[in-house]
Amino acid sequence: RVKRAGGGHASFQRHEDQRSYLRGERLSALHQALERNELQLYVQPKVDAERRTVVGHEVLVRWIRPSGIVSPLEFIPLAESSGLIGLIGRWVLRQAVDALKTGQLQEVCVNVSALELRESDFVAHLRWVLEERGVDPQRLWLELTERSLLEPRFIPVLHELKALGVRTALDDFGNGYSSLMALVNLPIQMVKIDRSFTAGIGEDTPDGLRALKVVRGIVALATAYGLLTVAEGVETPVQADLLMKAGCAYLQGYLFGRPAPLS
Ligand code: C2E
Ligand code: CA
Ligand code: CA
Ligand code: CA
Repeated sequence: RVKRAGGGHASFQRHEDQRSYLRGERLSALHQALERNELQLYVQPKVDAERRTVVGHEVLVRWIRPSGIVSPLEFIPLAESSGLIGLIGRWVLRQAVDALKTGQLQEVCVNVSALELRESDFVAHLRWVLEERGVDPQRLWLELTERSLLEPRFIPVLHELKALGVRTALDDFGNGYSSLMALVNLPIQMVKIDRSFTAGIGEDTPDGLRALKVVRGIVALATAYGLLTVAEGVETPVQADLLMKAGCAYLQGYLFGRPAPLS
């Protein structure tokens, strides 16, 4: 018994060693990716729900490796847990603001993780990047998740962003546990309805009708509080029409364009 327990522990230890080794390997590969310019901006259009014209783009970063394209779902968490997210976030931001400067993009939304907001000079750096390139802050949106917005210490940061003229959107709304009432009074300007809701509407089933009711409720409440609304993950014309009729201002999803290289 003792031997078995000991053996179990040793194998656990080996497993952990192997895991941290793999993590270390991937982390140094990600470091190199930044140096070797293997990260690339992809962009996805956002359209006006009624006119169906493109009003801006969301930046979605990709890691282009010789072996294939790595999804941010894979390397952003690694970057977050290792602190590398600060460097990646700043790189993404610079590229996005450059694209505004050259006129390649008119308006852009950049995803920002809670860990980036935590850096005391986040807003100062952002202001500097915009000033140095002479780009109007109104052309930049930041997408933040409720994880960021519910940290009381970030409220002053939201006010600073607002004063700077950079607008903020609550990303993935409905995906977490907070109620919209807890969020509508924050100094933000847009609510982004999570893809899980968009995917749920458009079917003539009890579930589909319930999802539609929830979406209508979110849009009505957000609008009543002066917030713009955008739905993500719109894949069918039926979803687009239902969202437009619900009063959703903007739409985003494969129906209008998949993320594609900025270049
Ligand atoms: P997100 O911000 O919620 O971005 C939306 C995700 O849904 C993107 O996945 C996008 O490609 C995908 N998507 C868009 N339209 C559709 C659709 O119609 N159907 C389906 N099935 N999917 C759709 P992606 O590009 O893999 O990004 C995943 C997540 O990685 C993003 O989720 C965001 O949280 C994070 N991320 C991406 N770029 C950055 C970045 O520069 N910085 C940070 N901090 N996070 C990023
Ligand atoms: Ca987003
Ligand atoms: Ca989202
Ligand atoms: Ca997300």
